[in-house]
Amino acid sequence: MIIANWKCNGSKAMIDDWFNSYRKTIQNKGFDAGIIGIAPPSIFLNELDLHIKKYDMDIDLCSQDISGSVRRCTGAISSDMLKDNNTFGYCIVGHSERRALYKEDNEIIQDKVFECLSSDINPIICIGESEEENNLGKTEEILKEQLNILRNVSLSDSTTIAYEPIWAIGTGKTPDPKDVNEIHKFIKDVVQSISANSRVPLVLYGGSVSKENAESFLKEEYVDGALIGGASLDGKNFAEIINTMRNIKC
Ligand code: PEP
Repeated sequence: MIIANWKCNGSKAMIDDWFNSYRKTIQNKGFDAGIIGIAPPSIFLNELDLHIKKYDMDIDLCSQDISGSVRRCTGAISSDMLKDNNTFGYCIVGHSERRALYKEDNEIIQDKVFECLSSDINPIICIGESEEENNLGKTEEILKEQLNILRNVSLSDSTTIAYEPIWAIGTGKTPDPKDVNEIHKFIKDVVQSISANSRVPLVLYGGSVSKENAESFLKEEYVDGALIGGASLDGKNFAEIINTMRNIKC
């Protein structure tokens, strides 16, 4: 599974260019590499949907956020709206930017996860430690705390966790892929042991993934894919990462 997080980027012109470059670069259209998704700003969801249909692309639309049951307010987007306009399989929840800048705590994020699960939308739940927590050797403790929102929760088959160390997002700094592999195994074990239906989630790595370093992460056993910010804004780069994924995992 490879998901593009466009964050607060994009324009109609950029979307045209993006599809042109992506289509020229992507290999073996029908080849199964798991889900390929794009999470654009919500104002471009329909534009993207038109392009995906026009070119008959195997790309899922993904939301960057969801209101949750208690935050149906100015600027928010609810599951009903997502379902009404498009077929949404996935929604990013708990991105570190929303945790930090919009003060979303574990309780708010849990409410958003519940809204996804009760609407047949698979949450992509972002978790990750700060650089200070990493230096203090607290990574597992922090991740466990963030994952605790899934205790006794019945998860969907495709509930996904994105491990995104905060210090790696948009910085060009990345953890050692071997360490990422260990952490992903830890995440899978924790979620399996606390979720009501003992689900082992897919776990994506996110944080400065590029076409140059993608292989080093994707070849690791417990890395099921990647959540990609900056490098996903260029259709060619994004397609090259998917081609890499297909060569490794298929
Ligand atoms: C992100 O913001 O989810 C992300 C992974 O960003 P980047 O790839 O730019 O580090």
